[in-house]
Amino acid sequence: MNAPYPTTTLPKPCEQDPESWYAPNVTRERARAMCSGCPVLGACAEYGIARERYGVWGGLTERARERARANKGLTLPLHPRPQNQPKDARLARDLELLHDSEELLGRGVGFEAVAQRLGCSRHGLTSARTRARKHLAEAS
Ligand code: SF4
Repeated sequence: MNAPYPTTTLPKPCEQDPESWYAPNVTRERARAMCSGCPVLGACAEYGIARERYGVWGGLTERARERARANKGLTLPLHPRPQNQPKDARLARDLELLHDSEELLGRGVGFEAVAQRLGCSRHGLTSARTRARKHLAEAS
């Protein structure tokens, strides 16, 4: 599915308060209201369905996008993984947390909100990120 990242020179509501777009348990009505009036609403919804696991995109919640993917027979692209990733379950989870937290932090979501969004305590996320970074450094 070809769904490019939605760009515009006009202001987008999510740029003002990115954390709200990644809060857990956003309702369908709330998601619609948050994105209403955005100049790239439709394109953003398509992009979000094709690419995004977390947050509100194009007025659609995570669950709404999962349903849309299921209806269209789509799956999300796999996260890029380091070569030779070990099968150890905790390390795999640490690497996933590092990847996902980097993605959300890069979008301007605060660390506390990222930890909450990924189902970790602040300390738990910090530890997981440290273990994952150590592994990556040793593997390189
Ligand atoms: S439609 Fe997309 S770009 Fe616009 S406010 Fe919503 S999430 Fe942001």
